[in-house]
This record gives sequence, C-alpha cells and structure tokens, in this order.
Amino acid sequence: MTKLPEKFLARMRADLGADYPAFLAAAEGEPWRGFRVNTLKISPEALRPLFPFASGRVDWCGEGFYYDVRAGRHGAARAGLIYSQEPSAMIAVEELGVSPGDRTLDLCAAPGGKSGQIAAKLKGRGLLAANEVSPARAKILAENLERLGVANAVVLNMQPDALAARFPAFFDKILVDAPCSGEGMFRRDEAAVREWSPEHVRSCAQRQLKILCSAAEMLRGGGELVYSTCTFSREENEGVIARFLDTRADFELISQKRIMPHTHRGEGHFAARLRRADGPSAERPALKSADPAPYRAFEAESLRVRLEGGFAAFGDTLYLVPEGFGSLDGVRALCPGLMLGEIKKGRFEPAHALCMALKKQDFRLGVELDDAALDAWFRGETLPAPEGRGFAAALWHGFPVGWGKLVDGRLKNHLPKYLRG
Ligand code: SAM
Repeated sequence: MTKLPEKFLARMRADLGADYPAFLAAAEGEPWRGFRVNTLKISPEALRPLFPFASGRVDWCGEGFYYDVRAGRHGAARAGLIYSQEPSAMIAVEELGVSPGDRTLDLCAAPGGKSGQIAAKLKGRGLLAANEVSPARAKILAENLERLGVANAVVLNMQPDALAARFPAFFDKILVDAPCSGEGMFRRDEAAVREWSPEHVRSCAQRQLKILCSAAEMLRGGGELVYSTCTFSREENEGVIARFLDTRADFELISQKRIMPHTHRGEGHFAARLRRADGPSAERPALKSADPAPYRAFEAESLRVRLEGGFAAFGDTLYLVPEGFGSLDGVRALCPGLMLGEIKKGRFEPAHALCMALKKQDFRLGVELDDAALDAWFRGETLPAPEGRGFAAALWHGFPVGWGKLVDGRLKNHLPKYLRG
C-alpha cells in the first residue's frame, strides 16, 4: 500500500487522541466489501439460496451484507438482484428516511449505489431524480439503474446551480453525496492517497459548500437533506455543515454520524441530516404527454401489464416519465424516465430498461436460462428455445435479464451491445 501522507497522519493523531493507534492499525488492514440486496426485485431471504455468499449483515442497513467474492458476472448481479456497495456508504440513505411517494433528488449520483438504495425505499412510487455532472459517469449511472429495474428515475446531467434554477423548493428529500478528498478510500484506492494534500482538502470543502447551497435551494419547506462524504477531515464534514448553517437560518441540524474504520466494520463515512423549516413548496408545469400508441400496440401483444403515466418522445424513442416530475423543458436529461423502446423501420423495438423493470408474470413469453445458458446469453449467442413467436423475456431463476425474440424454436438475442462479452 502507498505510504499515507505525514500531514494526514498528524491531523488524524490530533483529531483522534487516544483512539489514534486503533485507527492506524485499521488503516493497515484489509478493506471491507459489501453488497446490498435490491428489494425492488427480491428479499434478502429469497436471495440467499441464489447467492449464498453473505458473511454477515451490515448493522446500519437491513439490506446490506458483507462478502468476499467477485460477483460481477454472477446471475444475481446480472439480473440486478444485488449491487456491490462499500458497507459504510449505506449509512447516508438510511439517514435520509425516504418514504414511498417522496420526490427525491440524488445530486451527485454516479455510479449509483445510493440512487439504487433510494429507489428501493421508494418501492416504485414517487420520483428519483439522479443527477451527475460528468457525462461519462452519468451514462454508467443510467446503466446501473437500468440493471436494478428502477422505473421511476430520471437521470440528469446538470451542474447543481443550473438544476437549482429549474427546481426551486421542489424535492421532499435530497442527498448530497459530495465529491471529497476520499480519505475513507485510502485502503482501496491508491490514487486517492496520491492526490491528497491539505490544499486539496481545502478546495474540496469550498466546492462542497457551493454544492450544498445549490441543494438547499431545491428542498421544499419541511423537507430533509443528507450531506455525506467518504472522508474523515472535519473541514469537509462538520466544517462545511457549520459554514452552511451560518448562512441559512431556515435549516436545522438533526444529527451528524460518522462510521470510522477502527470502530465500525466499514471504510468510513460521514452523514449529516438537515431539515428545512416550513416554507415554500413549488409545483412544476405539467408534462405534455406524447402519443403512446406504438408502445400500447406492443404492450397488448407481448405483455400482461398496462403501464400508466406521462409519455415523452425524443425522436423515435419513447419514455414513461415518473409521476410529478413535470415538464422536461430546459432540463438536460440523459434519460427522462423509463425507456420503453424505439420505432425502427416502422416497428416498435422494446428497450432493455423496460424488460429489467418488469416481473416474470408481466411477460406473455419467457424462456428460463440455466447458468451455462446465461453465460452464452451474455456472449450474445442465439439459444435453442421452445416453440413460440414474438418478444420473450430471457429469465434467470424467474428474473429478467433481457429481451429475446422467439422464432422457429430459437431465442434470438436482443441484449444491448454494451452488456455483451
Ligand atoms: N453517490 C454516488 C454513489 O453512491 O454511487 C457516489 C458519488 S461520488 C462520492 C461524487 C460525485 O460527484 C462524482 O460522481 C463526481 O463526478 C461528482 N461531482 C464532481 N464534481 C462535482 C460538482 N462540482 N458538482 C456536483 N457533483 C460533482
């Protein structure tokens, strides 16, 4: 492991006093690894026989577990039943207290661990606006939410201040999982050690305060916000909160929590919970719904479920926009809702996101794949299948992994290119 910076160690020694030797011993240990069960699709109990690798439960998250395997290609990961997440990072969303139906914003959302956790707590109701400033990371965020089968998310790609101008006093709950100096990543990420300096910590704190001030504008009166980081520095944690509260008399601090590697089984996280006093609450102009006719024709032919809500069309692609999001005017969205499909050569082609958001019983046709067939499927192969004709879900233990087309006893593979290999 790269040697930890002397100035970092001196600061930790001053901060922790008698606890410093325990912290130092923990810093030399192995990092904790964890995963969260995606309860949009499965319960922890039902997952156990399909994915028997959990070695203990995370104390602060009922759906969080420790494990020690590389599981990216396991069926449970491919079907979106689990999400690999550092255990201490699970604290932030637990602190946010999301309820089904809330309008939520995850302002710094990629790659999407916490967005997925918020979506599970929404249980398909209300709204998740998952925003990420980096276009490349926003794409990864959209792919992760797609795999998890999240149907009520909008993936945005905006600067926090531009977003604040569009959504004043709009959200019930906001998560600000701010970019930070990453001291809690030191055991896992040598680049974070190399980049560290007191000046970097200071500039992170400046940026964090600015992001938090934009977030505050978007919280409705009576709403709650969680500010979190994966760093230990007081300057970026309690310091940012204190400076923010100095300028915002309409916010109160409810709690500040720390997960530390020498006192908890996790890499380290900070989460501060804030509440905005009763006050403004804004609505947004309604969405002008697009014509869903091409989707409805596909739905009648291939599905046993009817999706309701506002529809939006971009070119030949049709989306279902989450309830209450309102107009998309002036909003830079990478994905303005659940992608339903696109019209290609006059025919409706269902989107991978639609398949992942549905349940086994929603499909008229489904083909079960065993582990060997699943591997072949993700290599992009056509598989032998029962007789039938039309779009069918490829399933692993009853959980969708993508669309196929049944033709003459074969299942033609419609998995997107970015998932193959
Ligand atoms: N919440 C994410 C999760 O659970 O997967 C992790 C978020 S990471 C700690 C912080 C994110 O903030 C990064 O994706 C980074 O690209 C983004 N970011 C960087 N600069 C930013 C800025 N000025 N405003 C908002 N977000 C920024």
